Amino acid sequence: MSDISNEYKGKATMEKITSLAKRRGFVFQSSEIYGGQRGAWDYGPLGIELKNRIAGSWWKEMTQLNDDIVGLDASILMHPRTWEASGHVENFTDPLVDCKKCKSRFRDDMIPEENLKAKKCPDCGGELTDPRNFNLMFKTHIGPAEDTASVVYLRPETAQGIYVNYKNIIQSNRMKIPFGIAQIGKAFRNEIVTKNFIFRTCEFEQMEMQYFVKPGEDETWFDKWRERRWAYYEKLGVKMDHLRWHQHPIDKRAHYAKDAYDIEYLFPMGWSELEGVHNRSDYDLGRHTEYSGKDMQYIDQEDNNARYIPYIIETSAGLTRNVLMILCDAYDEEQVTDKGSDGGGDDIRTVLRFHPTLAPITVAVLPLMKKDGLAELANDLRQELKEDFSTDYDQAGAIGRRYRRQDEAGTPFCVTVDYESKDDHSVTLRFRDSMEQVRVKRTDLAERLRKEIKEYKRVK
Ligand code: ATP
Repeated sequence: MSDISNEYKGKATMEKITSLAKRRGFVFQSSEIYGGQRGAWDYGPLGIELKNRIAGSWWKEMTQLNDDIVGLDASILMHPRTWEASGHVENFTDPLVDCKKCKSRFRDDMIPEENLKAKKCPDCGGELTDPRNFNLMFKTHIGPAEDTASVVYLRPETAQGIYVNYKNIIQSNRMKIPFGIAQIGKAFRNEIVTKNFIFRTCEFEQMEMQYFVKPGEDETWFDKWRERRWAYYEKLGVKMDHLRWHQHPIDKRAHYAKDAYDIEYLFPMGWSELEGVHNRSDYDLGRHTEYSGKDMQYIDQEDNNARYIPYIIETSAGLTRNVLMILCDAYDEEQVTDKGSDGGGDDIRTVLRFHPTLAPITVAVLPLMKKDGLAELANDLRQELKEDFSTDYDQAGAIGRRYRRQDEAGTPFCVTVDYESKDDHSVTLRFRDSMEQVRVKRTDLAERLRKEIKEYKRVK
């Protein structure tokens, strides 16, 4: 995590996001009734929709839009030699210090320099121990015996599942270098400090793409992938002044990295890593050759059957961390003064300005009144829209309150069925961002929604 060099200007705070996430069913604390489980969170009805849509958008970007990238879903448990080869058994450690007095634990790179020098606990002033390395991999056992022969690890990154399958994919799918393999899946790290809600957790999800290239072409591809990943966030409508690049200095790079950049996002707690783009060189495939005894070389038919270990450019984004980023990025509060315009009244409106392709609910159908056949008409309309859109239906309370509820869930469109709808078969389409309302013929509604989604431009 880097220093905060820019003041955070958004309206979100971690407290507001955490509380809204719980209130609206985005994210709950894991096993809350037992006091919660540190570093683990559960995604509720709106949260799973948001997470799935972010994952879907990344998957489309990687696989559907790139002919040279294919998907994979590898297992979480892998042969333990994998993690020796990858360097994780030896190197995947955080330096840890303990307070002898209050027993708090810290990553030594996360406490102020002066405390480290004085060996003084930042919480209670007690004496700190010397730093010692702590491996972040979760270890467990497979089978009935809990001995060294049965040790397996929960994967700390999804990447290795891709590397060990790279030859399978070349053979089964006739891939030719340069090509990529994309994967979304769970990863586990025994993080010492888990804070800031879902930012850093022990169980999380990653969206990783490993791109295999000819040695010597790696730097060009590295630059291309940096550009593409930047453009992706722009396409999602993320506030671009909340994003920046951070290059890892040579002495801070992971053991495998020839070059490494992070895309950092300006979260309420400051600039923090969102995604890493790494040039992993031929380190991983070289090590798997050594540890497995299998030849991981690529035979390049387009270059006189030259044999080489490909270089790998990795783009590694946290899916769950992207959920937090999108929640913070979308969060807005505004004073609503034009009393009565949509019946919501004079107050502070909380609104999640999700891109419509990411919003958990795309369109909410609301009957103005429950009676006089309006509820039936609205229900009927909802059934019609269901096939093509993610919908919600709400008939409880004043219409303005219902709009506010949808704003807070980030629903970009509300459709209201009123008395006129019975006569002229038209409905009111209300836009979340501007709160504008237009009258649309019921028969044109689906098409209009599709157009609005496609042409959506974030204004605030
Ligand atoms: P950090 O330095 O913050 O611990 P890292 O540099 O080790 O992270 P990578 O190994 O590059 O992270 O992981 C790639 C991505 O996976 C990160 O950019 C982040 O989005 C996500 N990620 C990593 N660790 C966690 C975690 N504990 N909780 C949630 N997401 C994580």
